[in-house]
Amino acid sequence: MIIIMEPRATQEQAQKVIDILKENGFDIRYKQGEIYTVIDAIGDKTTITPDRLSALDGVKEVKIIREPFRLASRDRKSDDTVIEFSNGVKIGGGNKPVTIAGPCSIEDYDGLLEVAKCAKEMGCQFLRGGAFKPRTSPYDFQGYGEKALQYMRQAADETGLLTVSEVMDASDLEMMCDYIDVLQIGARNVQNFKLLHAVGKSNKPVILKRGLASTIREFLLAAEHILYNGNPNVILCERGIRSFDSAFTRNVMDIASIPVIKKLSHLPVIVDPSHGTGQRYLIEPMAKAGLIVGADGIMIEVHNNPEKALSDGKQSLPIPMFRDVMTRINKLNEKIHYEKEFLSADISEETVC
Ligand code: PEP
Ligand code: MN
Repeated sequence: MIIIMEPRATQEQAQKVIDILKENGFDIRYKQGEIYTVIDAIGDKTTITPDRLSALDGVKEVKIIREPFRLASRDRKSDDTVIEFSNGVKIGGGNKPVTIAGPCSIEDYDGLLEVAKCAKEMGCQFLRGGAFKPRTSPYDFQGYGEKALQYMRQAADETGLLTVSEVMDASDLEMMCDYIDVLQIGARNVQNFKLLHAVGKSNKPVILKRGLASTIREFLLAAEHILYNGNPNVILCERGIRSFDSAFTRNVMDIASIPVIKKLSHLPVIVDPSHGTGQRYLIEPMAKAGLIVGADGIMIEVHNNPEKALSDGKQSLPIPMFRDVMTRINKLNEKIHYEKEFLSADISEETVC
């Protein structure tokens, strides 16, 4: 890391920083300019954190050179993580992008089965649906719990799909693992560290959604909590962040985060344009945009009767529209898969952080 001292910092203050760094095993290079003194420190940041150094008198700024998410970082593992399921489906590593489709919440079995059949017919690999819903208001529909997961397992087995559902509470994990192939951590729980630790100890792959106000670094550090606790199978999901203009979109979908994360991390990344935009007509263009910039998959909300949906009906695609959208997305995926060089871009250029 690089420590920049205040212009008026004294020699003693700079020396104190150097002494502390040396005591903690850092190798120091020291430059005294006309205005600033800069200390270049190479060593293990676990022994002394940048925060502790920032608190010392005379320190203006501490810049980190190496990202703090060690296990999630490409510096640590240069090849892409590929997550493979028992039926041969793979996510990441340049494999054909996957599609996760289904209602926001699991409601009745027949409706879910109708969606699942269409998803399978259109080449999707995963059925999604919430059984435990993180709702802003306690008066809104909270999900049907285990009964919903039973429906989901049954509909997925009948159609040959894998299942994805959100876990909100670590105490539900064991029960959920009987029904679910991929656990989802929702945007609102991205920094629920106990929950991250709990899914880190599980053997199920995890889709981690970006928080409403997560920076990319915070998002990757949330993934780090899961990896650190032993689970290497984390899929990052860009689902939009909150910004100042919600007049036409529910969130701002940060498309650039996909190549940024690909550059910083080996983990697979997917996009969720349903929550990312909140608008039916934007789902197709934003799903395509995500795929073109390198997403390993997409997640789309689909409902057999969106007008009656108990959550997120406004952004859910009705089945006929989903069928049309998927026809075009499948064509795009063929192009992406077989004509990779036409999309390839050099993301290796170094940036200073
Ligand atoms: C969802 O997938 O239904 C959901 C609630 O997503 P998010 O956590 O991204 O809002
Ligand atoms: Mn939803």
